[in-house]
Amino acid sequence: MKLLLDFEPCKECKEMMTELSSPEMIFADEKIRIDQSAKFLRHLTYNHNEVLQAVMEDLPKQKKDQEPDFYQ
Ligand SMILES: [Zn+2]
Repeated sequence: MKLLLDFEPCKECKEMMTELSSPEMIFADEKIRIDQSAKFLRHLTYNHNEVLQAVMEDLPKQKKDQEPDFYQ
C-alpha cells in the first residue's frame, strides 16, 4: 500500500482509506473488507488510472524480490 500514499488522493479516496483503516473495518468480516478493498480498487481504476498502473508495474518486481533463489 506504500505506493498509494505517493499520489494525491481525492475526497472519495480519503473517505475510503479512512474507512479501510478504521477499527470497525479492521475487525470486520473478511468478506466486508474484501468488498471495501475492491470498491477502492475500482475507484482507482476509473479515477486514478496512473496510480493503478504504477502499482501493477511494481507488483512483479516485488514478487521477484521475494522469491527464493530458484533462478540462480
Ligand atoms: Zn480518488
